Amino acid sequence: MGMAGPAGANLLALRSHNAALVLDLLRAAGPAGISRLELAERTGLTPQAVSKITARLRAEGLAAEAGRRASTGGKPRTVLRLVPEAGHAVGLHLDRDELTAVLCDLTGAVVAERRAPLDLGAGGDAVVEGAAGEVEALLAGVSVLGVGVALPGPLDHTRGVLHRVTGFPQWDGFPLRDALAGRLGLPVVVDKDTNAAALGVAVAGGEPAGSAGFAAPAGSGGGSFAYLHLGTGLGAGLVIGGAVHRGARTGAGEFGHQVIQLDGPLCGCGNRGCIEVLCLDAVRRGAPEEAARVLGAGAANLVGLLDIDLVLLGGRTVAAAEDVFVRGVGAVLEERALREGVAAGVPVRVAPGGARGVAEGAAQLLLAPLFGRGEG
Ligand SMILES: [Zn+2]
Repeated sequence: MGMAGPAGANLLALRSHNAALVLDLLRAAGPAGISRLELAERTGLTPQAVSKITARLRAEGLAAEAGRRASTGGKPRTVLRLVPEAGHAVGLHLDRDELTAVLCDLTGAVVAERRAPLDLGAGGDAVVEGAAGEVEALLAGVSVLGVGVALPGPLDHTRGVLHRVTGFPQWDGFPLRDALAGRLGLPVVVDKDTNAAALGVAVAGGEPAGSAGFAAPAGSGGGSFAYLHLGTGLGAGLVIGGAVHRGARTGAGEFGHQVIQLDGPLCGCGNRGCIEVLCLDAVRRGAPEEAARVLGAGAANLVGLLDIDLVLLGGRTVAAAEDVFVRGVGAVLEERALREGVAAGVPVRVAPGGARGVAEGAAQLLLAPLFGRGEG
């Protein structure tokens, strides 16, 4: 069966806009499926065009019949569903001291997972070799679309080249994408941990692209949010109008290195008084409330700049004191709303996905484009 399935090359060839719209509706419909007529209505495509696309998706093994459904007056309609196991992707989260690798099916569901210690300071060759070994062990013969890699920035997403990762300047200029792709013989996409996590949330929580045109976390009431990741560092993933905002040089989201205290403590980035160093120092001192207040000040700046709908918090430092961070950041945003005369502050929540959120989002770097999701 299709763990090995119709393989990556065919799936990648299917990346036309209309096929992506149809696939996204099939995905959103879940196991219950959706009829060709509904697909035509919701995509705006002609029934003939939908029939052609669905015939090809079925031939590729990506779609299957999900039974028949009574229709008003006419004959029962055949409904189609996505075949989740028809394709897979690997999501790889390289943190400063730990690696998480997940194998995801087309719906993004995790079907296998591995964790291992990692020394991000060990240098490019050692990290590539260690990561490749974990990916190969995870795959065990399953063919995949490719590997999405998420790690602390800054980095060049387009070329898959790292910049000066905070705390690990030796990574500057390392072509991680090409090195890992060469070692594994698979397509590789590299992005910041924050962008990957934000993409994962946007894809999982969103409305189908064919109907609403944007993705939004459930209940956010809009398509724009910030994912703030406080772990061994601090960064942001920005989703604006349903798409991850990476900026002209894919450097957007360097949230942690805003200076909020002139002549403050020295940060790993070389500057002084960055939000990151103030936050991490407070955590080290055992003062998570103060760390939350600092994070809240940064979040309030972001809300003021971008007028986003929602702030999501993730990363293991947040996970260690979720209530403190949600309450503390929320209080700063609430104060800001009061000062401005806005009815309520922007909501603050813990990001879904937990410790696996970044790795799952990394797999979406390969999966989301199939469904026309997450890209600007
Ligand atoms: Zn800094």
